Amino acid sequence: MIKADLHVHTTYSYDASINPKTLVDKLYAHPSIKAVAVTDHNTVRGYHKVRKLASSYKNDILIIPGVEIRTISGDLIVLGVTELPPTPWTVENVVDFARENNGLTVVPHPYRAFGLGDSARKYAVDAIEILNGTTSHALNKMAEKLAKSMKLPGVAGSDAHTVDELWTVYTEVHASTQSVDDVLEAIKRGLVKVGLTGKSIHF
Ligand SMILES: [Zn+2]
Repeated sequence: MIKADLHVHTTYSYDASINPKTLVDKLYAHPSIKAVAVTDHNTVRGYHKVRKLASSYKNDILIIPGVEIRTISGDLIVLGVTELPPTPWTVENVVDFARENNGLTVVPHPYRAFGLGDSARKYAVDAIEILNGTTSHALNKMAEKLAKSMKLPGVAGSDAHTVDELWTVYTEVHASTQSVDDVLEAIKRGLVKVGLTGKSIHF
C-alpha cells in the first residue's frame, strides 16, 4: 500500500508557487504520503524537473507523471504520460492519447469551475476525483455520486498550488509494488481509498 497525493501543481503551472525542489523535500519528509502525481496545467515540464530532482533521493518516494489538460470542455488529468497529447485538446483526443500511451484519465473537481460536470458521463475516462483539497464538501460529495453512478474508482488529490495546500488529502493505493505502472494499474482496478489528513481545512 502507498499513500499518494494525485494532484499537485508546481511553478511550471502559470498559477502555482510550489518550487519543484521544495515539493521533493516535503514529500521526502512526509511521515505517510510517499507518492505524488505532478499535474501542472498543460505542461509536463514540472514532472520532468521533479523526477530529475527526486532521482538523487533514496528510493522510497514515487513521482508519478501527469498533466492537467484544459480541454475545450473542462479540465482532464492524465497520469502516466510524459508527453503532451496532440491538439486539439478535446476530451476524446486526450482520452485516446492516454489509452494509446498506457496512461490513465482522471476527471478532476467535476463540479467546480473548469470541471467537466455531468458531461464526464459521455467519455471513457478511468477515474473521478472525488476528494479535491481545494473544493467544498458539497461539490466533492457530488463528485463521489458521479463516480458511483459511472462505476468508476474515486481518487483524491490536494490540487495544491501553494506549499501550504500540499497533502490535505490522499489516495491509498493497494498496488502490488510501488512502481508507477503497478500503482496506475491498481487505481484503474479500483484498489483505492481516499482520506483526509489532519491538515485538511475544508471539511
Ligand atoms: Zn489542478
